[in-house]
Amino acid sequence: MIDTSSATLLKMKELLLLKRHKIELEAQEKIAEIDRQIEYINGAAEIIRNALADYICPNCAGSGIVKRCDAAGQMETETCDRCHGTGIVQRNKEDIS
Ligand SMILES: [Zn+2]
Repeated sequence: MIDTSSATLLKMKELLLLKRHKIELEAQEKIAEIDRQIEYINGAAEIIRNALADYICPNCAGSGIVKRCDAAGQMETETCDRCHGTGIVQRNKEDIS
């Protein structure tokens, strides 16, 4: 027989709220850990970008290709003539801002 007394229902509700709160806390901890990992990756990416900054071709921003408008007004993609498509050059001091 199902007990439908008020006290029992309130106790069931209290247990469900506790269970829900526990799940919320666990989810928040997992999200915080993921955020910490994302922050670490962002930091590592920033370090790599800074380390490579002096070697990234300023003409093509490291892509190795440049877009130019041809005589007919159409955009075309060409290999960067400064880095020959590698995206990497030894930059001169005047290139570095
Ligand atoms: Zn280039």
